[in-house]
Amino acid sequence: MGAKPTYLLHDGELVPYADAQLHVLSTSTKYGVGVFEGFRAYFDDEAGELYAFRVADHMRRLVASMRVVGIDGPADVDQLEEQLLGLIRANDLHEDLHMRAQVFVDSPDGKPDDTGPATVFMAAIPMGRYFDRPGLNVQISSWARISDRSMPPRVKSIANYQNGRLALLEARRNGYDAALLPTVDGHVSEGAGYNVFMVRDGKLCTPPVTESILEGITRDSVLQLARTELGIDVTERPIDRTELYSAEEVFVCGSAAEVSPVSSVDRIPVADGEPGELTRQLQDLYRRAVRNRVAADRGWAQPVYAP
Ligand code: PMP
Repeated sequence: MGAKPTYLLHDGELVPYADAQLHVLSTSTKYGVGVFEGFRAYFDDEAGELYAFRVADHMRRLVASMRVVGIDGPADVDQLEEQLLGLIRANDLHEDLHMRAQVFVDSPDGKPDDTGPATVFMAAIPMGRYFDRPGLNVQISSWARISDRSMPPRVKSIANYQNGRLALLEARRNGYDAALLPTVDGHVSEGAGYNVFMVRDGKLCTPPVTESILEGITRDSVLQLARTELGIDVTERPIDRTELYSAEEVFVCGSAAEVSPVSSVDRIPVADGEPGELTRQLQDLYRRAVRNRVAADRGWAQPVYAP
């Protein structure tokens, strides 16, 4: 994470960084009720422009998360989007960014079933690469991924992150870079902050959205880029742990993680341990898409400063 920005946004108002606060006795802090989004913006040197990636899609997911978790918050996607872009402009940021939108229930003496009043914070913070290595050594966690029957992983609820955190702490203790979690049935679901793809027998595959995963926006971008830019077939199907041991390529993806190659799973090298051809192609396409150089007709990469 880079330097602190001057302003954050609290319910649409600019506030100094230190003043964005939530009461310790709110429903959110007492019971872990809250939803959020993590976005990226990329500065393109050639265009001299900052592009925010798929902000409206993230805001739509934020609204969906509120519905599932039971928070009566703002539902106007255009307004939320405009607020976030306005915050970036107010801080006059012209470099790669990580942005967040967080919605909490800020009821005084909060009760577990309070659904409001909702309060929205937004931040835009300079950020470079999330992973500092070219290939990740990944552990399949001993922790199972939460499921739609307990804590729906489909949405971005802050409470869900305890599950990924346990997996990540375990992986780090064991000397790995990252963790992938199995579903309760033992299939591969996703990682602590990223979705997963593999290439097996020449076919690009990823778990479907019914396999205890967040409905990742990068996952969707990769699916679309693979299908339309590369013209290849992608299969959304359950994946067994041992399929990753014999896959030709494995990568994870997320707004922060971007497209990141996996070089080993449970210490078993993925092919020769080097990023595979398809992974490289998708990594490159994604890097260009976020800077509006590929798939520009989709309107994913939005200029922040151009009128
Ligand atoms: N899974 C989880 C658990 C995540 O936290 C993230 C990051 N938001 C992802 C997948 C990837 O989602 P996205 O591409 O929308 O950032």
